[in-house]
Amino acid sequence: EFLPASRVTRIEASASVAAAARVRELKAEGVQIIDLTVGEPDFDTPDHIKEAAVAAISDGQTKYTSVTGTPELQAAILDKVERDAGHRYGSNQLTIGGGAKQVLYVALMASLNAGDEVIVPAPYWVSYPDMVLANDGTPVIVACGEETGFKLTPDALKQAITPKTKWLILNAPSNPTGAVYSREELQALGAVLEENPHVFVLTDEIYDEVYFGEGRVTSLVTAVPALKDRILLVNGVSKAYAMTGWRLGYGVGPAPLIAAMNKLQSQTSSCPSSISQAAAAAALNGDQSFVRDSVEVYRKRRDAAVEGLNSINGLSVAPAEGAFYAYVNCSGVIGKATPDGRVIENDQDFTLYLLDAARVAVIQGSAYGLGPYFRISFATSLETINAGVDSIRDAVNALN
Ligand code: PLP
Repeated sequence: EFLPASRVTRIEASASVAAAARVRELKAEGVQIIDLTVGEPDFDTPDHIKEAAVAAISDGQTKYTSVTGTPELQAAILDKVERDAGHRYGSNQLTIGGGAKQVLYVALMASLNAGDEVIVPAPYWVSYPDMVLANDGTPVIVACGEETGFKLTPDALKQAITPKTKWLILNAPSNPTGAVYSREELQALGAVLEENPHVFVLTDEIYDEVYFGEGRVTSLVTAVPALKDRILLVNGVSKAYAMTGWRLGYGVGPAPLIAAMNKLQSQTSSCPSSISQAAAAAALNGDQSFVRDSVEVYRKRRDAAVEGLNSINGLSVAPAEGAFYAYVNCSGVIGKATPDGRVIENDQDFTLYLLDAARVAVIQGSAYGLGPYFRISFATSLETINAGVDSIRDAVNALN
């Protein structure tokens, strides 16, 4: 009999991946589902990026590369980070992997010993706590409610830090809330971190290009340069360039951490696909109009979703500042009864009701560590969003 290792039995399969699988199942049964769970751009990868990949195949760039990638990709990443975060990292401060997800996992694998604590502000991206658990660490979840814009405050950070704290994970723009930290907010968190020199910070900036404000999202590296040697900045090409299937992410940070990560990568992946590396270099170096155009499309969808949802009795949501999600407060429907007499006790009950009654798939807030909310994605067409909102409205109006 096969028995999985304890690192597997103590984690859950990703809630987003599970939701996507359930939607696929229902669709395969012929059920029409309005799918608002999608965590990836609905656009195709731009042609100039695909062409770079085809050229790489034709040129015979089909072999192992260095663990840290081709010189072209390295330069493209270091240039991008310098452009946006304002610091030039060296090539010994760079790691790459099969998506930001894999880079994050390897960072925790390279740094955590049993019992080390990782502060995870909630709502969080579903994978962080499980990644920590799988690597013998202890997630320390800090609830960050709507009253602080779903953001970690300096006081909450101070209270969560113990001598065992190894990492703080910050993700902005946030999946699932779209929250973004201002420079001043980052500096206030930075002041607490400067008093606690044993704490490292993992900044997940995978949605940095999907920003609806003026200018750019500020990175912690830019806001508090003094912390640079304790920050691992993680990013990738998945969200900005509609390249989720290419699996290419990267991290920049202190050389000793990077060396430990690259040592693990040398024994696990050797390197990400050489073809994806060529495509990613073309994405980072090439014409950025796709990024600008797609953000404008997301903005229109966000505005439609927010307006529609706020017009439904019992639901409320503030416009996301970035990423392509809305995190909707559904406290107004908790305690109500469905037409067949079942009481909606929590956001999980509500999302199941929406799937049953409205054929709309969304993800319950409890999967992100803060209820009662649900997440919708606007990485789907305006028609789908409007149809989803209308069906949700009908389902909510049918509650007693
Ligand atoms: N970080 C966050 C917050 C995400 O939402 C995602 C994808 O959903 C990732 C990381 C992973 O991105 P990648 O495709 O680069 O692994």
